[in-house]
Parts: sequence; C-alpha cells; structure tokens
Amino acid sequence: MSKEKQFVTEITPQGEDFSRWYIDVIKKAELMDYSPVRGCIVFRPDGYEIWEHIKEELDRRFKETGHRNAYFPLFIPESFFQKEKEHVEGFNPELPWVTEAGGELLEERLAIRPTSETMIGHMYSKWIHSYRDLPVLINQWANVVRWEKRTLPFLRTSEFLWQEGHTAHETESEAREETMRMLETYRSFVEDYLAIPVISGEKTPSERFAGAVDTYSIEAMMKDGRAVQAGTSHYLGNKFAVAFDIKFLDRDNQQQFAHTTSWGVSTRLIGSLIMVHGDDRGLVLPPKVAPTQVIMIPIGPPKTRDAVIARVDELYCQLKGAGVRVRVDDRSDMSPGWKFNEYEMRGVPIRLELGPRDMDNGVCVLVSRVSGEKRIVAQADLVSEISRMLEEVHHEMYEKAKSFRADNTHAVDTLDEMKALLEQKRGFVTAGWCGSAACEKQVKEETGATSRNIPFDPAERKANCLCCGEKAEHTVVFARAY
Ligand code: AMP
Repeated sequence: MSKEKQFVTEITPQGEDFSRWYIDVIKKAELMDYSPVRGCIVFRPDGYEIWEHIKEELDRRFKETGHRNAYFPLFIPESFFQKEKEHVEGFNPELPWVTEAGGELLEERLAIRPTSETMIGHMYSKWIHSYRDLPVLINQWANVVRWEKRTLPFLRTSEFLWQEGHTAHETESEAREETMRMLETYRSFVEDYLAIPVISGEKTPSERFAGAVDTYSIEAMMKDGRAVQAGTSHYLGNKFAVAFDIKFLDRDNQQQFAHTTSWGVSTRLIGSLIMVHGDDRGLVLPPKVAPTQVIMIPIGPPKTRDAVIARVDELYCQLKGAGVRVRVDDRSDMSPGWKFNEYEMRGVPIRLELGPRDMDNGVCVLVSRVSGEKRIVAQADLVSEISRMLEEVHHEMYEKAKSFRADNTHAVDTLDEMKALLEQKRGFVTAGWCGSAACEKQVKEETGATSRNIPFDPAERKANCLCCGEKAEHTVVFARAY
C-alpha cells in the first residue's frame, strides 16, 4: 500500500461508521484532545482558532445591533436557583456545586454557572429602576458547565464556551422583536459564515428552555441525517423579572416588570460545521473560519527549489498583505503528495502549487478542497483570484449542504409512514402535529426522533396530526438529534 493510501485509510469512512469518522477526523486534524476530566475537551490551536473567527464575527454583529459585552461571576449562589421554579427543575440535574473553599465549608453552596439568567437577573434588578434605564442589551462571552450524561466533543461537552445575550425591555413587543432579531442574526451568521443552511422556527413546549415563555431555534442537518440545534433565542416574558424583581417605573409612573430575553450559541457550532461539510478525506472547512485559507506548496526538483521558494515567498507576502490567512509548507523532507493529503485532511479550502514551469509561465495552480477543481491563474492576479475562489468555495459548500438537506427531507402523513421511512432512510421528517404533548411523546418513543422545531417557513403544510389524525395545528420537523 502506498504511503498516501495508508494515510487516508486512517480515517474511518463516513458510510462505515459516522461517529468514528468524526472522532478520527477531529483528533487527526488536531482540533481537540480528550482531557482527564470526564466530558471536558481541550481545544487545540486549530480548533480554538475556528472559535476565535466565529467569535470575532458574531461579536461584530452583536455590537452592530446595539449590544455591549460585560462579564458576570462563574459562581451562582444556590438560593438564586430556587427563585424560578421551572429553571431550577430544568437545570438542577446538571449542576456541579462548590461546597468548600479556602479549607472551609461554604455557608451557601455555589453552583458553577450552566447559564446566567439568575445572576444577571439579580444584577438587572439593581440597575433598572425607570423606563429610562431600558432597554439593557448585554452579551457575555464565557465558559459554562452542564454535567451532561452523554457527551461528544464540541457538540455536547460538560464545559463549553459560548456567548449568552441577556436583554431587558419595556414592552413585550420590544422583547419579542429582540428575540427574533437575534435568531435572525444567528441564521444569517451560520449561513453566511459557516455555509450551513438552517431551519428557523419555534420549539414545541416540551423542548423549551427551562423557564422560557417561547424558545426559537435554528436547526441544521448533519451528513448522517441527524439534527443539531445550532442556536437558540428565548422570550422569557416577565418570568425572570418577577423572580428577580426587575421592576421599573413606566411612562405613567406605574411599577412594571421588565420583559427579558436570552440567546446563545456555543462551541457546538464547530462540531456542526465539521459534520455538515467533512468527507472521507477529512475536514472541509468553510473559508471564513478556516485557520488556514490557502496552503502554498512549492514543487519541482531540488535544482529549482530555491528559486521556486523565493517566488512562493513573494506571493505569500502579497496574500498576507491582503488579509488572506495563508501558510507555506516548504519542508523538503515531505513529498508534495504527502502534503496534498495532509492539508486536504485538515480541510484547508485552497491549495496553491507552484513549480518551475509555472514560474516560467507566470502562473500558479489553485486547487479547491471541496470540489477538487484545478485552476491555473496568473500570478499577477493572485490576490483577486484567491478572494474570488474563497467566495465561490463558500457558496459551493452552502449549496451542497442545502441540496443534501433537500434530498434527505421527507414529508409524511402518518406515524406508520414515518416509522417505515426511518427504517430505510435518514434525515428530517416533516409532518402535521395537533399540538398535544402525548402525540409528540409517542413519536419520540416509537421512532427515536424528536421535534426539532416548527419552521416559520415550511415547504408544505400538513392538514392532520401524524399521530391522532386530528386537525394539525402546526407542521413540525422531526429528526434524530445530537
Ligand atoms: P440553551 O441555553 O440551553 O438554550 O443553549 C444555548 C445553546 O448552547 C444551544 O442552542 C446549543 O447550541 C448550545 N449548547 C447547549 N448545551 C450544550 C453542550 N452541552 N455543549 C455544547 N453546546 C451546548
């Protein structure tokens, strides 16, 4: 077996075992490593840099929509959790507690934050007194801990990195508008930046965030047909305002409770983009978040090596100067073939090859990771050709993911039809639903698929509930989910 062939076979094919493929790829591409603590991963530099690019752009979009960053404590007094009944019931099983510090037992146990509605609610009650203090539009970048029973790197970890937006408003309509604005911010970011098509919609009551009035989500399809909830935005009504006494004097001098929202995305987005775009050769990274967007590989015999490398360095400086994340691999102890495989596995969107003949002709070769397409371009136009190709790669990845989702989405009329379908096929199932929790539960018990959301914009609306046959109140997307 050739060295290159051997290299590729170290990654389990997706069709053989998708979960193993995922673990093989993220470990081999050095995005993460397991840590000595159960369910907690180490983000290695390439994994962490993807998060940094996600963070930079989201942060920019949050600020553009009027939000500011702040930071609240990691520890939350136990009594805070008792104030909102549904919230405590939802989160209690997942909370780790600090009971002792500085060699003494604490008077009150401190939870390590799983989310910060309680702490932030407490602080907002001190800051908000009048309608003039509203709205409050704050975001926090932080780590949170939820002691998950089942974990999977990036997608579901016990400690994860995220942002949590927390806002307070004068009126319900303003708060609802904010909830939708942030859901839309997530949708556009995930589509425009990560090339992942998503379905925006409302969660059913059983899938709501603990303590929310309404929860909205964006849902994405992975390459094995399973769903990932990629982001959520919650309208919390007055619930947390009542629990934490966030009151203000309104324009008529009456005391009112504020209307609050919260919204978050996490390092789960990294797992999602890997599972949406990756293939049997490894990662395929969306250009806008790839730590390396272009890898430059000099080729040719030893006698022309110095001249080729000198030209590669000049082109490197031009690209770098134009803001492209570019690297050169000029190691002489690795063959070009080995390097091609290596950077394909790492998902670098564009490979640039330059050999002596290209030098003579004033061109270089660009190869797209996603399609394998080769382009010969003039060195003089390199900067514009690269930025055009990065844009094209993004669109190609988005369209590919979208048509994969379309091919793996099926509409059904009955639960029997859904069961038969899921025995043979993977993917999303759209169906009518009467709105009863019992029917939703039956679907889950009999198929393993949960309701993902009620899309705002379903391709078709169903008239009857798939379970009981009564009139459908909603058309729901069901899927087995991560
Ligand atoms: P939530 O506060 O439950 O609405 O969660 C906000 C977002 O965080 C979700 O939409 C997920 O994308 C993400 N998330 C929730 N739990 C985890 C976890 N255990 N690991 C990684 N991300 C998570």
